[in-house]
Amino acid sequence: MSGAGKVYLIGAGPGDPGLLTLRGKAIIEKADVVVYDRLVSPAILGFCNPNAKMVDVGKMPTHHKVKQSEINKLLVQFAVEMPGATIARLKGGDPFVFGRGGEEALELVSAGIEFEVVPGITSAISVPAYAGIPVSHRGIATSFHIITGHERAESNGELSLDFEALAKCPGTLIFLMGIANMDFIARRLMECGKDPKTPLAFIEKGTTPYQRTVMATLETAGETIARENVTAPAITIMGGVVELGKTLAWKKNLPLSGKRLVVTRAAKQSSGITAKLTAFGAEVIETPMIETRTLECPMVVSHSERSAAESKDLDLRGLVPSMDSIGTKCLQSDRIQVVFEDLKNFDLLAFTSVNGVESFFKQLMAAGLDVRVLAGKKIACVGKITEKTLLERGIRCDYVPEVHTGAGLGKLLRSVVDANGVVLSERSESKDLLEESRILLLQGNLADDTLVEMLPQATRWVVYETLPVKELPEWKREAVASADAVVFASSSAVDNFVKALPGSDMAPESAAMPRFAFCIGPMTEATARKNGFETVSSDETTVDSLVKKIAEYYAR
Ligand code: SAH
Repeated sequence: MSGAGKVYLIGAGPGDPGLLTLRGKAIIEKADVVVYDRLVSPAILGFCNPNAKMVDVGKMPTHHKVKQSEINKLLVQFAVEMPGATIARLKGGDPFVFGRGGEEALELVSAGIEFEVVPGITSAISVPAYAGIPVSHRGIATSFHIITGHERAESNGELSLDFEALAKCPGTLIFLMGIANMDFIARRLMECGKDPKTPLAFIEKGTTPYQRTVMATLETAGETIARENVTAPAITIMGGVVELGKTLAWKKNLPLSGKRLVVTRAAKQSSGITAKLTAFGAEVIETPMIETRTLECPMVVSHSERSAAESKDLDLRGLVPSMDSIGTKCLQSDRIQVVFEDLKNFDLLAFTSVNGVESFFKQLMAAGLDVRVLAGKKIACVGKITEKTLLERGIRCDYVPEVHTGAGLGKLLRSVVDANGVVLSERSESKDLLEESRILLLQGNLADDTLVEMLPQATRWVVYETLPVKELPEWKREAVASADAVVFASSSAVDNFVKALPGSDMAPESAAMPRFAFCIGPMTEATARKNGFETVSSDETTVDSLVKKIAEYYAR
């Protein structure tokens, strides 16, 4: 159907987010709609475009599992109603391995909807691999068979498996969805002649921080499941290869294995702490409590405006209008062009954050311009990451301070100006750069005043704004509710977190959130306590100290 959206049937892999394919990730990052199943891990959902419509068909608001026929219809409906949209149908493992992806594809074909399949790593093979069990092994198993332990015959409700054939099969048998029926399956296999001593392993929540392997034999299968309380999702693997798992089990129990932690830093800042906690075995749900948004056009805060604010003893931050009022200012679409027209009056542009760089370039494009307007200008930035972001856009920085702070940058620029009385570019005829206010600072609305205080005549363009996240999407609320603890890196993150969860006026005991918080330093800890959390604080206000504290806490 021309003009309709396109559906991608994507395999999300068995759980470990590192096992999602690059292609799968690229699609969910830009998808407009993501229709996902229960088994897809929150860490993978975290990769999805934050503006995507997220549809949980494992459990809908009614708390009923959506029927397969309804899912099929839903995919067609999204494609028809959203011309040009990218619709991701995200499934655990591989979409065509007991994933009913084939049925969905057939429905799309009959509705004339374009689709693609992005295979995933199936749990059938990868989960045993994470337990150190190769599904085939020279001299032990020359074939492996993936079987559903769930499918019932329509005629009599019996499991529709050919137990005679399976019992004779010399290869490795891998059962998905079979835990509830395993006692029956094992008995039928033995009745049909399979050796009761055949080794088998149940692997629960494989590849996730909660992975557990339980070994048994065919004759002890049922009792072992009951005794060890093996629960879904789990696979059962049977055959000689299972013995290898005793030698090859490579996945270490790490200090934070089995812990689910909520990290509240902004996505761009959080990857450091997320990587460190993940390396210790934790499952991390990134839940940034602030988000940044590029303004439609830069908000110009010139020297005179600041003076007015200062004389009235106003906080400069108050001068920066909300998105709404900026929107009004930008109503005339040429407003951004007018602002950018002024760019020719600056000799030096100073960037103090990656967000500043990204937002400035978005606006530059929106104004119908490109990098050529920066020809001949000097460029300064605050640190290495900002420098790299500029370099990616083909721009070298002339000035990067050794101390990567606003004060460091201010000091450097002052010294440049003071030393030369300066002519920063060939075009500049001014002897006094500061007097002429030829420095332009590209910043966010919450940037502190260090730089403008050190360079009082500079002009500031507020190119992006930082806002608290008002509400968490449903999938995140669920993941958060089941977490062991929250990690707070600032007081404002605590406040925003408590506000963004439903029942925020309640104490954490009654709201759907963990009661325990790890905090970076005493100020954050005080705020968390005030909000009813039990807390542990890092010794120093650094991410490393915080991560160390968390690992130590759970190692006790
Ligand atoms: N398409 C999926 C399978 C869907 S059927 C795939 O290719 O993996 C769902 C079954 O898969 C579960 O009942 C369980 O048997 C198995 N499974 C999926 N993820 C698993 C995991 N992380 N650990 C253990 N079993 C898993």
